[in-house]
Amino acid sequence: MTPTLKDPSLFRHAALVGGEWIEADPATGIAVNNPATGEIIGHVPKLGAAETKTAIEAARVAQKGWAARTAKERCGILRKWFDLMIENKDDLGRILTLEQGKPLAEATGEIVYGASFIDWFAEEGRRIYGDLIPGHQPDKRLMVMKQPIGVVAAITPWNFPNAMITRKAGPAFAAGCAMVLKPASQTPFSAIAIAILGERAGLPKGLFSVITGSAAAIGAEMTSNPTVRKVTFTGSTEIGIELYKQSAPTIKKLGLELGGNAPFIVFDDADLDAAVEGALIAKFRNNGQTCVCANRIYVQEGVYDAFAEKLATAVGKLKTGNGMDEGVILGPLIDKSALEKVQEHIADALGKGAKVLQGGKAHALGGTFFEATILGDVTKDMAVAREETFGPLAPLFRFKNEADVIEQANDTEFGLASYFYARDLSRVFRVAEALEYGMVGVNTGLISTAEAPFGGVKLSGLGREGSKYGIEEFVEVKYVCLGGI
Ligand code: ADP
Repeated sequence: MTPTLKDPSLFRHAALVGGEWIEADPATGIAVNNPATGEIIGHVPKLGAAETKTAIEAARVAQKGWAARTAKERCGILRKWFDLMIENKDDLGRILTLEQGKPLAEATGEIVYGASFIDWFAEEGRRIYGDLIPGHQPDKRLMVMKQPIGVVAAITPWNFPNAMITRKAGPAFAAGCAMVLKPASQTPFSAIAIAILGERAGLPKGLFSVITGSAAAIGAEMTSNPTVRKVTFTGSTEIGIELYKQSAPTIKKLGLELGGNAPFIVFDDADLDAAVEGALIAKFRNNGQTCVCANRIYVQEGVYDAFAEKLATAVGKLKTGNGMDEGVILGPLIDKSALEKVQEHIADALGKGAKVLQGGKAHALGGTFFEATILGDVTKDMAVAREETFGPLAPLFRFKNEADVIEQANDTEFGLASYFYARDLSRVFRVAEALEYGMVGVNTGLISTAEAPFGGVKLSGLGREGSKYGIEEFVEVKYVCLGGI
């Protein structure tokens, strides 16, 4: 099925390798499904190591010319790319919903959010300043310059088919790098549409390749090819570890945005209505399929019952359905195994004494639709306390005091996002400092923005994306010692 688009040429069944388009052959290509209907919406080419190598070589050549341009010129092209994304946001949103499933309003919201990284880095690119350090000897002057790292390989997931690409491509291109991207096979069309707009904006030929196909073969070439100086990956911790290992022999710089297991803590002094609103966003955005989604909701005993009741009422109003339909808030899960994971977590928790407060089973719509679910009386021995569910399941844990909840919240190998609701100012500082996470949302369930550094500690990853810190990940520091002065 072809979506109804104002500009149908944005829905292209092809890959872009070193400036050349390779059209998909449905007989040999990868089929892409609409998760809401199971219908095949198109194919993309199944490429591998050879095409990746070609793209890396083209990127190497293109990067030299790109880096030689002024920052103003590069950033002008990025600004045009941003404008094109905004002009075409309705079409890009439709393509995204069709292949990913999230509701159209949320998908269009992702396009605007995704484009904001191009806008932000178009501005930041002109401010990659070096340093002049006072010399250690009278005849010396010490200079520090920042130069683009070179060719970057990027691997991105299906949950944010647009924004996870722009958050990497924006700083890479602004800094003067080239990029070879492998998008998730479930959602390649959004990546391809971004590349089409990049061409129109004036990104030089070969600077940006989008390679669809075998993840293992493409990833192996990206991580072993010595021309690639940085690998930036968003996805599971398991694959992140693999890519880290594979990149070791060529000592590449790594950017890893991996899994999370976010705690969401509601203290006795919280504004409960605000906490419910925050929990809805932090838990149910993208149907629970984000790495910053609240995975464990801890509620202090004095407000536990009131919070549970309010949350159940609010969750009961969320409409599940095909993301193209009006009023839908929760789409389908990406695939069958995602649905099975939610079911396993529920069965495990119920077997160990948890109770269903809302939902709890596959949705009457069938397919990969699942009811928005709340479980009460969840405890730390249940699977949901350890593993990311990545679905519409909110487990409620009861806690007694601050020390106790901090210990439980930090008792995980992950450290990406965390959230808490409280009004006592000293508590806000104490808890924000004690949480072992890269990001803390205080009295808010939505923290991601181009202006702020996104990233995790522990098994959640390496490096930061977005903000002034994000561009530093794409430059090398060069020290020049000037003598004989
Ligand atoms: P998710 O659970 O979000 O699908 P994955 O880590 O499996 O997370 O996938 C994220 C991205 O990593 C996707 O683009 C996927 O195709 C890619 N990927 C999966 N396996 C490998 C691999 N062995 N090497 C490189 N990339 C991989």
